[in-house]
Amino acid sequence: MDLRSMTQDELITYMKEAGEPKFRAKQVFEWLHRHHVSTADEMTNLSLALREKLSPEITTVREETRQTSKTDGTIKFLYRLFDGQMIETVWMPHDYGNSVCISSQAGCRMGCSFCASTIGGLVRNLTPSEMLEQVYASMRTTGERVDNIVVMGTGEPFDNYDNVIRFIRLITDPAGYNLSARNITVSTCGIIPGILAFADEGLPVTLALSLHAPNDELRKKIMPVAHTYPLEDTIAACRTYFEKTGRRVSYEYSLMAGVNDGEREARELAALLGKDNCHVNLIPINPVAERSYKTSGSASVQKFKLILEKSSINVTIRRSAGSDIDAACGQLRRKHAQEG
Ligand code: SAH
Repeated sequence: MDLRSMTQDELITYMKEAGEPKFRAKQVFEWLHRHHVSTADEMTNLSLALREKLSPEITTVREETRQTSKTDGTIKFLYRLFDGQMIETVWMPHDYGNSVCISSQAGCRMGCSFCASTIGGLVRNLTPSEMLEQVYASMRTTGERVDNIVVMGTGEPFDNYDNVIRFIRLITDPAGYNLSARNITVSTCGIIPGILAFADEGLPVTLALSLHAPNDELRKKIMPVAHTYPLEDTIAACRTYFEKTGRRVSYEYSLMAGVNDGEREARELAALLGKDNCHVNLIPINPVAERSYKTSGSASVQKFKLILEKSSINVTIRRSAGSDIDAACGQLRRKHAQEG
């Protein structure tokens, strides 16, 4: 395991085996997680010999390309990993702080029909340090702090469960970046065992569930995961998550014209969630070149929203950040793979 993926206790063991005193572990942890250094050379209070030993065990991401939105300051980074894999990270400045959207896998095997990230399948899981580095590297570039993290980039977080949990424990470590778990959102397409395990981690993270359809029949057409986990059981798992963590679940609903954006679906969705203390995020779909889905018109979006509100559901419409820069879900990575 690389050093940035290690907990403080694991670093202590590592230093002990290297014949170093215990306090070195704390120093290295702080260099990695408070100062976000990308190389051992920057760890100036360590001996040259120790720096040379640590050097190959520190991985970093390297910026391959960057696109900056002219309209809203969104920056989309394409980062190269040590093995040449490319991942996307999106930096989004908001009035309430900076949010960064990170990837949890290189590629994805969930197969959602409207998503660009799944087209080439899953290549591999990201390590905890590769998730941390997306946050730290974007801060190194912008010189600003990250206030919120959304694990909503490429990949299914609960298909890489252990590394995602480790990432969250590291970024919330008081001796490191010390982000509040309340400022983290993890989005899943609905892997029930993952949702239930996550509810027992004792982490007040916000769970986002990618719903996109109010019934199994339609959901199966656009999300293969619906064949494994029925909607009713998925919503029940989300209710359990709310009961155990006290965190209101956020349901993501991407609107595709003529597919899932009609009044019928809105009413069905209202009936499904109307009694829950939850939040629905409507996302006019970002059309993906390889797919035929079209985004819903603003009139249908407003009508859909109104129907949910009549059932006292909290609804927001996600503003489309950086739509002038391929900011939609895996499109920069995809484009790079095609040109490569
Ligand atoms: N695998 C996780 C997280 C990654 S996808 C999940 O499914 O939740 C993050 C969100 O973007 C999901 O809600 C996903 O369904 C949505 N999404 C994917 N492609 C999209 C597109 N082209 N337009 C709008 N939303 C999209």
